[in-house]
Amino acid sequence: MAVKVAGSLEQYIRAAEDLGYGAELERLLDGRGGVRDIVRLYRAPLWLLGGVANGITHMLTGRRVGYIVNMIMNYTNICVVGCSFCSFYRKPGSPDAYKLEAREAALRVVDAWRRYRIRQVLFQGGVDPGIPLEYYEEAFRIIKEETHGEVAIHGLSVVELEWLARVNRMSLREVLSRLKEAGLDSVPGAGAEILSDRVRKLISPLKSSSDTWISTMDTIMDMGLPISATMMFGHVESLEERASHLLKLLELQRRRGLIMSFITWNFEPGKSVLGEKIPYPAGGGELLRNIAISRIVFRGEIKWIQAGWLTAGVWMGQVSLHYGANDWGGTLYGEKVLPEAGVPLPHLVRDRIEGYIRGAGYIPVERDNWYRPVGGS
Ligand code: SF4
Repeated sequence: MAVKVAGSLEQYIRAAEDLGYGAELERLLDGRGGVRDIVRLYRAPLWLLGGVANGITHMLTGRRVGYIVNMIMNYTNICVVGCSFCSFYRKPGSPDAYKLEAREAALRVVDAWRRYRIRQVLFQGGVDPGIPLEYYEEAFRIIKEETHGEVAIHGLSVVELEWLARVNRMSLREVLSRLKEAGLDSVPGAGAEILSDRVRKLISPLKSSSDTWISTMDTIMDMGLPISATMMFGHVESLEERASHLLKLLELQRRRGLIMSFITWNFEPGKSVLGEKIPYPAGGGELLRNIAISRIVFRGEIKWIQAGWLTAGVWMGQVSLHYGANDWGGTLYGEKVLPEAGVPLPHLVRDRIEGYIRGAGYIPVERDNWYRPVGGS
């Protein structure tokens, strides 16, 4: 899918030609760029990448920026996978390990719906093999019944689903079909990190291979469940591996077409094991570069790219709207993962998010789980 060039985008494309990046950019805008093209663009000036990415985004969604009122339900921090970059998890039996009962987890979601009228819960935790499939079925059914179906369940990462299939001795399809029946609406792309087996062996050796991650997502979409895609950068990966990650996601989208959005964030060292080797997070410039390049690679094929305020803060979130992002993400009531990594999160209610988006020169549009505008936005 080639990009139809207009207005300021044309000026930036001319600037890219003048600076010697024209051929790479042309191939990427035509949807036929490769790893080498992306790697070369990673070295281009940031203003140039921002100008191109912003030009593409403007043609896709103009000045409208989506956001959702949502919460995160981190139902347990117990995890046996032990990724070296993760500050959130606790081993089974740890004094500060926790696990909510299914009913309690669900009722907290219902309470957030009553208070804030959330439209989505991101239901995610560690991998605790002691939690049966029935736990999720019970929680999802209560959420759907008590909120009259008004809260969409965006839940369970690839690794949680794979472990559920394994410990329940069921196929992934069986697990997904039961979860879908109970109310699962879509699946977050967490756990992709960088889709390179070299990187995965270094930072999350117990997670499945990159090919298995892709084939699991393939199955999820084959069953009609849309997903979001992610990338966590700024640790042991190379630029080639970042580029290949983006192309793998693009190829998956071309095959299935149900990737709703892309979210990238930098590794937060926090108190993680990996943080002892990589003590400083990648800077804001690197985040903007990543957002801009993902927009150039995905163009309109993955329409929504989220602003990077989660790890980099709300001011950087505002700037990223000028570098190719067109969605703010959510209010994220209840988020526990980032505070564990030492990233304090502001209390972002609807009005504050709208203020940040307007302050950056854009028009806020409240949306639902499927990125559709709601409430006369
Ligand atoms: S990232 Fe997820 S799977 Fe890995 S240790 Fe943390 S909670 Fe467990």
